[in-house]
Amino acid sequence: MAVPRNRLSNARKNSKRAHHAKKPKHLSVCGNCGTARRPHFSCSACGAYGQKVAAAAESQ
Ligand SMILES: [Zn+2]
Repeated sequence: MAVPRNRLSNARKNSKRAHHAKKPKHLSVCGNCGTARRPHFSCSACGAYGQKVAAAAESQ
């Protein structure tokens, strides 16, 4: 593994980590029931994905 030649100052270390903040999850609106859902995932409220309603989510 590569070993750093020089010690990073606290300012350089912290400015490097300024971009490491966690971004909020992107949400889209379900076309079937209108609640917020993650894109490319079936809706947790009604189980719809695109035009279809998944059978696994319906039974629960
Ligand atoms: Zn839904």
